[in-house]
Amino acid sequence: MTSKRVLVTGGAGFLGSHLCERLIAAGHEVLCVDNFFTGRRANVAALLDNPRFELMRHDVTFPLYVEVDEIYNLACPASPVHYQFDPVQTTKTSVHGAINMLGLAKRTRARIFQASTSEVYGDPAIHPQVESYWGNVNPIGPRSCYDEGKRCAETLFFDYHRQHGLSIKVARIFNTYGPRMHPNDGRVVSNFIVQALEGRDITIYGDGLQTRSFCYVDDLIEGFVRLMATDKEVTGPMNLGNPVEFTMRELAELVIEITGSRSKLVFEPLPVDDPKMRRPDIAYARATLDWEPKVPLKTGLEKTAAYFETILASR
Ligand code: NAD
Ligand code: UDP
Repeated sequence: MTSKRVLVTGGAGFLGSHLCERLIAAGHEVLCVDNFFTGRRANVAALLDNPRFELMRHDVTFPLYVEVDEIYNLACPASPVHYQFDPVQTTKTSVHGAINMLGLAKRTRARIFQASTSEVYGDPAIHPQVESYWGNVNPIGPRSCYDEGKRCAETLFFDYHRQHGLSIKVARIFNTYGPRMHPNDGRVVSNFIVQALEGRDITIYGDGLQTRSFCYVDDLIEGFVRLMATDKEVTGPMNLGNPVEFTMRELAELVIEITGSRSKLVFEPLPVDDPKMRRPDIAYARATLDWEPKVPLKTGLEKTAAYFETILASR
């Protein structure tokens, strides 16, 4: 394998930090770019002494001039709480960020990967979601800054591919969890585990019968690397996620069991436009990448709970 110069935007975030680690372990040079909106230096602390790793504070809504062979574009807050904090900046990050990174890819002839999302399907009318489904997205609601920003980024990726012949890889990521999620991230897995460990009430939004399918981070990163390594004609969009589906009540009960917590379940209002169900059809990824998730939810939750225990103990 030849060593490449790889740019990871959003590299100090949850997924980005795992990806940087994986690329360094594979012998590549990694340039990690992040504006630290939701990411932290601590996430990549173990890499800072490595001469093949470089960390740069930069906002992808501004142009970036570097020389690279591959780009993974992950910059964008992923938790509803964070992406709704400054919705205009969220859309700018997805859209201007994509334009800037695609421009960089065009100049350097780098292959470019986009971290898209299952949110492009919105509140889906078909289940499980297949890549050919165009989605059911509200263009003007509180989630739209994220959903429509990511949809527009996909449009840009495919237009750069058609118009300029860029080699693109678009992954539609479904709910992923694991160590280095931010304890105040607001996403369901981190919320439930932190609440359980602190003995606080577990906040279920709505009746808790809405479903999600949770992928452990190591499985997802394996999918990223395999997709990036595919032939030029494989562009995606490709669903990457774990097809085993749970209700939020089932998730809460599993978290209570794993942590041995005495927390009670409390029910709070369902956020606007919260999708009722979500499960990826991963037939395309299975066939193309020979990939499927291996880590069962219970095992992944145990590893994640162990991480949060250390974080909470050090506070
Ligand atoms: P995260 O919030 O931990 O990471 C996002 C990173 O991007 C952070 O380090 C943040 O500081 C950085 N960032 C945000 N705006 C930026 C900007 N303008 N310029 C530079 N850096 C910026 O979230 P994550 O879970 O690691 O998600 C990474 C990517 O994967 C995101 O693009 C997200 O939309 C996508 N994704 C994640 C999931 C998931 O379940 N984790 C699901 C679908 C899609
Ligand atoms: N959720 C919940 N309690 C929480 C946080 C989230 O019940 O404390 C629900 C949320 O309403 C959604 C699901 O869990 O139905 C997943 O939410 P998350 O924010 O993790 O991601 P989403 O898939 O909605 O982007």
